[in-house]
Amino acid sequence: MRQIVLATRNHGKIAEFERLLAEYASDIQVLGLSDFPDLPDVDEIGSTFAENALLKAREVSAYTNLAAIADDSGLCIDFLGGDPGIFSARWSGTHGDDAANISKVLAQLIQVPESERTASFKCAVALHLPDGRELVQMGHLPGHITLQPRGSAGFGYDPIFQPDGSDLTLGEFGPGEKDKISHRGQALRSIAPQLNEILVTGR
Ligand code: IMP
Repeated sequence: MRQIVLATRNHGKIAEFERLLAEYASDIQVLGLSDFPDLPDVDEIGSTFAENALLKAREVSAYTNLAAIADDSGLCIDFLGGDPGIFSARWSGTHGDDAANISKVLAQLIQVPESERTASFKCAVALHLPDGRELVQMGHLPGHITLQPRGSAGFGYDPIFQPDGSDLTLGEFGPGEKDKISHRGQALRSIAPQLNEILVTGR
């Protein structure tokens, strides 16, 4: 069985990627960082989603000598000039404090009318092969920031993000429904056929 490693400890992301890859190939085993407990954390020092995803994919491929995939994502709000962007996970200061991140964004937009609260989620997915070849694909989900949080599904900024064409926030979506349109789903779907081709043909 061919193996690839996904540069995440998040079992939800691994499961999502396995589901998507299964649409293109049946005998690829997806490993995660928990299969390599000694692998050091990679510093996300890039200035774009694509740079950060590539940094992670390169390091993990070098360490494991396997094809490696990494993603980097975030919320870009037009009124804030694209912030929080690559700083989305730590926008309030503490890494991964979703409630504090949401509060900070709502406070920053407190006087801003709905028509000017446009935003998008962006995701870069990078593939790095042991022979040095690399590939990056982007996904993009446009929408706007709601006045109040709604729903408790998902993670991060989902309760305050309403995709274009929907009356619901992502916090009110079912998990399968979000996968179909999400920035991460789009980027993974773009890279999965190419990854399968490389793994199947060995070229
Ligand atoms: P990372 O790509 O896993 O480092 O995620 C970066 C941060 O962006 C997360 O911690 C969230 O705050 C935000 N983010 C990325 N994707 C999503 C999403 O699908 N929903 C809500 N927040 C997200």
